[in-house]
Parts: sequence; C-alpha cells; structure tokens
Amino acid sequence: MLTACTKTGKKLCLGFDYRKETLLDLRRKEEFVCPVCGEGVLLKLGDQRIFHFAHKQGSICRDEFENESSYHMEGKRQLFQWLIRQKIPSVLEYYDREIQQRPDIMFQHKGKKYALEYQCSTIPEKVFQKRTKTYLENDYVPLWIISSSHIHQKRKEIIALSNFHYLFLRSTSSGNLYIPTYCPEKHLFQLVESITSFTIKNAFVEYFNYPPSKVELDALLEPEKKIHLNLSTWNSENERFILNWALHPQSGQKIFLQEIYNRGLNLFLLPPEIGLPVSYSLLIQTPPIIWQTYLFLDVLANKNPNDSITFQELTFHFNKRIQRKNIILRKLPQLEQLNPILAQIEYLQALEQLEVLQRKGENVFQVQRKIIIPKSNREREEAKQLFYQKNCNILSKNK
Ligand SMILES: [Zn+2]
Repeated sequence: MLTACTKTGKKLCLGFDYRKETLLDLRRKEEFVCPVCGEGVLLKLGDQRIFHFAHKQGSICRDEFENESSYHMEGKRQLFQWLIRQKIPSVLEYYDREIQQRPDIMFQHKGKKYALEYQCSTIPEKVFQKRTKTYLENDYVPLWIISSSHIHQKRKEIIALSNFHYLFLRSTSSGNLYIPTYCPEKHLFQLVESITSFTIKNAFVEYFNYPPSKVELDALLEPEKKIHLNLSTWNSENERFILNWALHPQSGQKIFLQEIYNRGLNLFLLPPEIGLPVSYSLLIQTPPIIWQTYLFLDVLANKNPNDSITFQELTFHFNKRIQRKNIILRKLPQLEQLNPILAQIEYLQALEQLEVLQRKGENVFQVQRKIIIPKSNREREEAKQLFYQKNCNILSKNK
C-alpha cells in the first residue's frame, strides 16, 4: 500500500514524489500505522519494488493489501499522478469507513464522486458486483479499470472477452460502451471500443491508445463513438462460427437447433437479415445470430406486409425467451440502467434501414416486406451477395 499515517495522525502518501533521502529521514524519526486497521506498518524503501508500506507479519489486515503486486501499486500511483496533474481533487487509497470499502483512488469531478478501482488480479464476480453495488448505493460513480495484461487479441480486430472482462464494461452518457484498460509499463491507457460481439466470447473491437500525458479525464470517461466494422469480415466470422457450432453444438445450442429445424429453418440457409451487428448486443450473452433468429420466429415470421409490431409484443416474447433460458443476459454491474430490450429495438431499427420495417409511432413498427428464406445454398449465396452490395454502407453506419 502507498498510504500510511504517523502516530500523530499525519498522512504520508507515496503517490506524491518523494526523494529517497527524505523518506529515509522520515523513517528514522516516525512510526507509521495503517489508516484502516491502526496497526504498525513498515516503510519499505528497497530498490526492487516501488516505495511502499507493508504490514508486519501476522496482521489481520495483511491479506487485503499485501497481495498487491508492484505492477498494481505502480499503476495506481501513475493514475493518481495523472489525476492530480489535472488538478482533480483525488485521494489515493481512500478508505470509506462507512461502507468499509477502499477504492484505489477517490476523486471528485464535475460534482460527482468517483471510486476508481484499478484491477490487476481476477476477483470473484460476486465480489465485483457487491463492491459496485455498494458504490452506486452510496453515490459513487464506479470507474473500474482493468490491467491491459488481461486483454489478449486473437486475430486482427477480434478478441476474446470473458465474463470477467465484461464486468468492466461501462457507458458514456450517450450510451457508447467500452472497456478501459491501463498499463503502467507502457504508460498507456488502452480503451477497448466499438465492441460488437458475435459469439459468447468473441467480439470485434478496436483498440485506441491514449498516453496519460495526452489524454484528459473527460476523454477517458466519454470517448467518442467510432464506427468501423468490416461487414464482409463480420459475415465470414459469423459463418465460421455457425460451421463450428453445427459440428460441436453444446446443450443450449441443441435446443436452438431443434427448434429452428421444427420451424422449417436450416442453420446454413438463414437469410442475410438475420445475424446483423448490433452494438447493444453486448447486453445479451447469447450470440446475435441466435437471439435474432428467435426474434424472427417469435415476431416476424408470421407477419405480412402492413402488419404491426409493437414493443409490447417484442418485450413479451423476449422475456419469455429469457425465462426459458433460450436467451441469457450478461451480468454488467456498471450498466444496470440499460435495458437489454434496447438490443432488440436496435435490431428492428436496422431492419427499418433495410426497408423490411417502417417505424409507425413511438412503440410501433410496420412490416414493409417479408424476409425471404433461401431454399438452397445457391439462393442463399445470391441473396447474400446482393444484400451486402446493397446495404454495406447502411449497416456500417448503423453500427
Ligand atoms: Zn491495516
């Protein structure tokens, strides 16, 4: 840990730059105690790790603090310095006695109180959720930043994101979703943006690098929406996914395959309008190709031109699929204000741009044309080519 008190109650925060001689001198004169448990702590001034405080052996407070790696301490120190350089009132290792939580940094910005948690180790999902909930209930805005070392790129534009990674997903005020990461070795924020998931784990993303010396807090809290998604890559990744999946279906997927078979659909002959990129698809763990097929079966398949689709029926069928566990929602503790129905509405909006639907009121769409189900591979290929030729621009913009 980087903060301790003297016996007279003065705080010493190693987030500020001190010369080693000054600290050696202080260490000779003072005794230090932990601001949380009040036990004595040692000021460590070795050459291997950054200067820090450590509990004496056998402390009960020990576990929580001392598992901190140098990487973590260095990261939070850099983040703290980044904030104070911008003259943002910040407290390193702020201990809120009332809620008994200790964010790495507490700072105030534009009338709001933030709890910054820089996370380098994996913690149980329940702990993450409980901490986040407590912050929200006590008027903190949680700002979880994950260490960049957790994020691994699979292929160009594609990364695998686990449930743990998704816990860090946050939203700008305009609903742009992203995951903030930081690396103290590279001195770099990396924001994972434009995340469009196509399987439970895999997503198209874009990385943007922001050196702390060049980026201000506001830019980190409100990154602008960037739109680049190569539709033909999107399409081929989806096809690769379908193929893998047909060969090795898991139990939940078998139910889906059985249902579409019973309804006269073939996984390899889905129309190109099913499986579109939708940004709020992140709120749903089930891959877009599956939930969009369910939406097609439940709401669109039996409709004819001029029939209406209301948000009420959309919500009804969506909730039913969730109850039956055909559709699984993601656990996103920082985004509980976002209703996953937004993904379904966004999909209908995409269908509106494809002239399948037309908006007829705040909560109503009207069918313009039926979606044609290809009957053979040849029909499917032709439909797909025509579709992408015609709609490439619309869909990339839509995202
Ligand atoms: Zn302690």
